[in-house]
Amino acid sequence: MADVIDTAQERADLILASQIQAARTNVAGTSAMFCTSCDQPIPEERRAALPGVELCVYCKAAAEINAKHYRGNK
Ligand SMILES: [Zn+2]
Repeated sequence: MADVIDTAQERADLILASQIQAARTNVAGTSAMFCTSCDQPIPEERRAALPGVELCVYCKAAAEINAKHYRGNK
């Protein structure tokens, strides 16, 4: 019986480790030097604060407004 539990625990550990790795890969992504939408430079402070950031603050704000619009939020 212990073997079944050990196998299940090992499987859960593997799944958790892969999920942590996937999350770390996204969080530690390289920040873009320039906005991918308008090509304006992204300030170093923003790049440091948001690892993996790809949009300048203006384009991000516009994208969030558009996302709200498409979701139908008020
Ligand atoms: Zn931009």
